[in-house]
Amino acid sequence: MTPRTSNASNKSSLFSDALTRLEHASACVSVHPEILARLRQPVAITEVSIPVRMDDGALRIFTGYRVRHDDTLGPGKGGIRYHPDVSLDEVKALALWMTFKCAAVGVPFGGAKGGVTVDPKSLSPLELERLSRGFVQRLADVIGPETDVPAPDVYTNARIMGWMMDEYSRITRHRTPAVITGKPLSLGGSLGRDEATGRGAYYCIKQLERRRGWEPATIRVAVQGFGNAGQHVARLLHSDGYKVVAVSDSRGGITFADGLDIPALIEAKNERHGLDDVYCACSVCECGGCMKHRTTPISNADLLQMDVDVLIPAAIENQITDANAGSVRAKVVVEVANGPVTSQADEILLGNDVLVVPDILANAGGVVVSYFEWAQNRAGYSWSLDEVRERLLATMETAFASIYERWESGAAPDMRTAAYAHALERLGQAFEDQGTARFFSAQGGSES
Ligand code: NAD
Repeated sequence: MTPRTSNASNKSSLFSDALTRLEHASACVSVHPEILARLRQPVAITEVSIPVRMDDGALRIFTGYRVRHDDTLGPGKGGIRYHPDVSLDEVKALALWMTFKCAAVGVPFGGAKGGVTVDPKSLSPLELERLSRGFVQRLADVIGPETDVPAPDVYTNARIMGWMMDEYSRITRHRTPAVITGKPLSLGGSLGRDEATGRGAYYCIKQLERRRGWEPATIRVAVQGFGNAGQHVARLLHSDGYKVVAVSDSRGGITFADGLDIPALIEAKNERHGLDDVYCACSVCECGGCMKHRTTPISNADLLQMDVDVLIPAAIENQITDANAGSVRAKVVVEVANGPVTSQADEILLGNDVLVVPDILANAGGVVVSYFEWAQNRAGYSWSLDEVRERLLATMETAFASIYERWESGAAPDMRTAAYAHALERLGQAFEDQGTARFFSAQGGSES
């Protein structure tokens, strides 16, 4: 069945917040006003209903979305999220962020995002597979290696990407691994994709370490969200000697002042599976007993206010708002989650001299290695893990340096605005190179 596709706009908080960032950045760079007008609206919004036969024989209808925000720099790129709070507004905001993220780190993609409003932990593995395949049946006309390339996001993973790639290949009757990234290795996934988001954030922190002369053993880190991205960044920092003093998940967290044993914690959390091999239902709160030392429980709210050097929100959006930003005591916030700091909170953190490494840079490692996966699939190559890591390091270091130096030079008030401005310049150049705005402006004599 053909999905409903429209250009409708539905403004509310998260998308409006994303537009605020765009406005701030536009004040720092010279771009044609038409470019901003184009970026305020997504290129296409697709909303679908997904009928799923449940294990008990009942039929349930789920709602799913795919938003392609912009495709000037390349095919749309962005994850698919399964969460009860997924809404069109949220998916539009996440798609806009992807446009800016891809442009900020220089990968040849536009921005897109998708999601299904569902609590995936309430589904059996077979129900989850039917839902995932059903979503692809609805989206088959609007995704593809040259149009829009999904990936995993919150509560989706490599196995789900594998089902989706398989379903798309059945529909098109062509094996098409490049339609989706974050797949299992056996189905065309890339080495290093599972750790890429956490590793990219780690490379950003290493850049700060170099520029600020940090001694890892003296740097205390708290991580909110102990899923894929949070675990990898915690693991890499721990192995470098950083003190990761607190981690949490949706059910709460634990803290230990001398630094948690992160590898033991990862093992303890991941060895207990709620939905076999699909989700870990164990909370880190329950893993305290397996630590060598006694840990203290901590709530997610308290973790955000801990006296640490680096705070890493790696869970979901809207965690640091105008209500709690004034209580953040960390000197640096590294946004591994998408949108964990609201635009009002940004101003409070800036006023308190807290450096925020923005999501579109800090968590871009995932999309960078997704780009590597797509490129390998299209070329028929398989790169070694070292090759992937080297290329990721080079991409992240280049992007970090451009953005940090733009901020440090005073060309932007904070690193987020610097990142958006950097991306906006790239997008602006591409729009102008493909468009006619300047030609008509020149004919009208309104532009010098
Ligand atoms: P995940 O599903 O593997 O993990 C999410 C973690 O956050 C889980 O531990 C969950 O329990 C926890 N969580 C959920 N709600 C919470 C809450 N209210 N308070 C504290 N913890 C909570 O997801 P992930 O892939 O690690 O993604 C985490 C964040 O990183 C998301 O914002 C996602 O958009 C962003 N991100 C992920 C990738 C990637 O490649 N995985 C790439 C870019 C951005």
